[in-house]
Amino acid sequence: MIFDVLTLFPEMIESYCGFSIIKRASQAEIITVNTVNPRDFTLDKHKKVDDTPYGGGAGMVLMAQPYVDAYESVPRLANSMTIMLSPQGETLNDNIVDELSKFDQLILLCGHYEGFDERIREIIKPREISLGDFVLTGGELPALCLIDAVSRKLDGTLGKIESADDDSFANGLLEYPHYTRPREYRGLKVPDVLLNGNHKDINEFRLEKSLERTKAKRPDLYKRWMENR
Ligand code: SAM
Repeated sequence: MIFDVLTLFPEMIESYCGFSIIKRASQAEIITVNTVNPRDFTLDKHKKVDDTPYGGGAGMVLMAQPYVDAYESVPRLANSMTIMLSPQGETLNDNIVDELSKFDQLILLCGHYEGFDERIREIIKPREISLGDFVLTGGELPALCLIDAVSRKLDGTLGKIESADDDSFANGLLEYPHYTRPREYRGLKVPDVLLNGNHKDINEFRLEKSLERTKAKRPDLYKRWMENR
């Protein structure tokens, strides 16, 4: 999977991708993360990428020309999707992450300041994805969330030991509780069933806990799971 990230702050992307599981996925060539800076595509000597909004108002708007030229400089694979990170998009969830993990290339458009000149949307026609109903200063964090979540779905990114099969949402429920050593901490004991090595009992216990906490924390998911089982 190739991620091409259009951003005025490439170091933010490169820094995060230089750690832990995402770094390992890059080294194993499961993913490649490229950055493209629209500032390198400006036509004026001051390398201006933003300007004041027509009609007045607060903030600076990303100019169309450097952004569109930067976008058009990215080599396109056949199975590619372009995504604009935007609070106005559909909210990212596990189904969308699954869907995106089937592409060979994701081109991610990060905004900043007041956002994009509308003509960037009109020309590129990206799918818009939001991280949630709140506004961040830039699209870099949402782009990184997307890179991270999609990379976890790709074969080989997670070792068997880190498998995503039981993660929350994978089967429509929240994941069961985990425990590790010691067996007792501040008087709180690890449930006996997890210590007896009986995998049938352990699976039953985990499903029961998954259902219990999904019902309490996410009644919407619980209802859907009960309807579809
Ligand atoms: N003025 C824009 C609006 O009200 O829709 C918000 C612009 S925001 C300050 C700057 C950039 O951050 C956006 O262009 C987008 O790339 C990114 N951004 C902010 N909040 C986001 C969110 N919830 N999800 C995805 N991207 C977001």
